[in-house]
Amino acid sequence: MAIDLRSDTVTRPSAAMREAAAGADVGDDVYGEDPTVNELEAAAAERVGTEDALYVPTGTMGNQIAARVHADRGEEIILDRESHVYCWELGGLAQLSGLQPRPVDAADAVPTPEQFASAYVEESLHRAGTGLLALENTHNGRGGVAVPPESISVAAAAAHDRGVSVHLDGARLFNACVALDVAPERMVRDVDSVLFCLSKGLGAPVGSILAGDAAFVAEARRVRKLFGGGMRQAGLIAAPGLLALENVDRLETDHENAAALASGLDDVDGLRASDPDTNIVQVFTDELGVDAETFVDACEERGVLGGVHGPYLTRFCTHLDVTREDVEAAVERVAAVAADLRE
Ligand SMILES: *Cc1c(COP(=O)(O)O)cnc(C)c1O
Repeated sequence: MAIDLRSDTVTRPSAAMREAAAGADVGDDVYGEDPTVNELEAAAAERVGTEDALYVPTGTMGNQIAARVHADRGEEIILDRESHVYCWELGGLAQLSGLQPRPVDAADAVPTPEQFASAYVEESLHRAGTGLLALENTHNGRGGVAVPPESISVAAAAAHDRGVSVHLDGARLFNACVALDVAPERMVRDVDSVLFCLSKGLGAPVGSILAGDAAFVAEARRVRKLFGGGMRQAGLIAAPGLLALENVDRLETDHENAAALASGLDDVDGLRASDPDTNIVQVFTDELGVDAETFVDACEERGVLGGVHGPYLTRFCTHLDVTREDVEAAVERVAAVAADLRE
């Protein structure tokens, strides 16, 4: 059996989740009548300490809805050049909402106030103006970095001082909270909306949550319909999401496994591995003189799946279907791959 470290999205729903889905009480959620979705939205809002929350099919849709709600056509969105919203959502800001990304190079995963100030654009006859600051925590593209709440607050204050709203792409919000031992309420205290995925480390088969104040969520509900995300008896997929909310504390195990994986791989001749904050390990193969494409293919042949994230950058992700034994086996197999490629 291949050890699948491509992403924490590859987890299979547990028997309890399948049972919960089969037995879920349902109704038409577009009419607001699905009791299971309503329960999930209430539980999710409570979990992050916001007034309200909206169940959305994917994290991508949640981010795109947030951008649409916060910013007007033509406006600019300040975000990190390695952010998911900028890199991995098919230019959705432009395609779906007529928004312009203005990327900055946020080396510490969150734009500094200085970076915000120099990227900020005042609305004028010639310029559309800045409509949103989008942050990300944990930061996927920079190696699952857990951004401390103080940095989020500082960035948010810089935006709010200029009347600009702040969205947090917290696809892996709880990984950050667990890694830093910070309450979710604190992590999202100073942002205007937050997205988190139920379908990643928390193990649900489908779905994400977009949370904020009541007015934001009411508007987000309209945009969800516009983007084709108004679902009917969605309680069937929301029920496992309720169980996923109970999986927060076990993320610690994924982080420990990632640390073990990183240290094992870093000891392999020719490989350099990041020291992970959370469940994402970045492995660099430049010293080996092998590009990530070749490396990932060779790993697959040996029964370890990873993802190409740069010319010499491979990403391995731990999750709830990966045990410590899997991690140890993965290190052995990848070490054998590196030995082959060194020859
Ligand atoms: C996975 C991810 C998303 C998107 O989630 P999907 O459910 O796959 O659309 C958004 N942001 C970040 C940081 C992610 O890692």
